[in-house]
Amino acid sequence: MQYISSLDLKNTSFPRSLTILGSTGSIGRSCLNVIARHTDKFKVIALAGARNVELLTKQALQFRPRYLGVLARDDALRLKQLLPASYSPKILWGEKGYSELASLPEAEFVLSAIAGSAGLLPTFSAAKAGKCILLANKESIVLGGHILRSLLSQTRAVILPVDSEHNAIFQALGAKNRSDVKKIILTASGGPFYAKSIQELKEVTPKQALKHPNWSMGSKISIDSATLMNKGLEIIEACYLFGLDLNQVEVAIHPQSVIHSLVEFIDGSHLAQMGIADMQVAISYCLAYPYRLDLSYLTPFNIFEYSALNFYPPDEKKFPCLKLAKEAFYRGPSFCIALNVANEVAVEMFLEGKIRFLDIAEVVARVLDRHAGCKVETEKDILNLQQDVQNLTLNIVEQLK
Ligand code: MG
Repeated sequence: MQYISSLDLKNTSFPRSLTILGSTGSIGRSCLNVIARHTDKFKVIALAGARNVELLTKQALQFRPRYLGVLARDDALRLKQLLPASYSPKILWGEKGYSELASLPEAEFVLSAIAGSAGLLPTFSAAKAGKCILLANKESIVLGGHILRSLLSQTRAVILPVDSEHNAIFQALGAKNRSDVKKIILTASGGPFYAKSIQELKEVTPKQALKHPNWSMGSKISIDSATLMNKGLEIIEACYLFGLDLNQVEVAIHPQSVIHSLVEFIDGSHLAQMGIADMQVAISYCLAYPYRLDLSYLTPFNIFEYSALNFYPPDEKKFPCLKLAKEAFYRGPSFCIALNVANEVAVEMFLEGKIRFLDIAEVVARVLDRHAGCKVETEKDILNLQQDVQNLTLNIVEQLK
């Protein structure tokens, strides 16, 4: 088995210099929380915060990075006005600005925590620059895992997985021999609708879908958790990250979200990582790898609160997105791109009240049926295909109405 990163950090000393892409989102805020309590160990070089200029201003004043990034030029101008005259960081904006921030020579570590497919180009830019990438943006692997893998081997960039399940696997695997691994089991809470019938699922609203039982997350990933597409994307992510075949990745519904994933070794031993459901744990493990940070300020995990831990096989009839993701990975990279684009468009339309909950999987299934498959060898190929699939998806949504 081949691991996507060599795990040989060029430098394991502190303080570490860091760029945070997506600093105003849920993962970015959690990361800054950890750093605020370990200011002697980390130096924030750049913060990019998309459109939330007010929060980005607050973060900038607290951490005083040399660079800031936003999505639009107007926001860059507003940000400049909000900052005091005594502090004048370089403000970059747009796609080019983000790619520049991802490859700054001053920062050795890059947290890639932009939501959705917008994270693709900055993650690739960090990989090309040989950075140690703390990867929270699973879409960049789903869309271009095969390209990313060869980039990493050329530049000796490293990926440390922030996604809680992959981080759990990463912790359980340690430096153990990969040939000793039989399979991994990704746990899933099941989302807010796990106990509902198909009949009930027809009527669920975006508001209900946004209420995740255990984790607090952004809206796109919350809907993906409710459809189980998130777990489907995580299967693809795991296959690339840990060099596994589809049949070596299993999913278990685990409503308590205490065990964050398991590794099964060839002798039948299972190693699991467990603890509270707080992303600060996974983020801090990547930030300090191969060391650990003291997070005793978090609510401690109390094993006695759990008299039972339950595990169920997922119901793929009720949640077909799981099966669709496996099918896409099996059929090849262009199908993974089709899956991801179709899902992003469908989730957005569901949030806008334009399609119903069960239509999300239906739209993705129809797009995969219609997509003929093609070679994807460069970032440009990914971007072009994304555009084509977006148009195809919009046509299919029109037919649904
Ligand atoms: Mg996850």
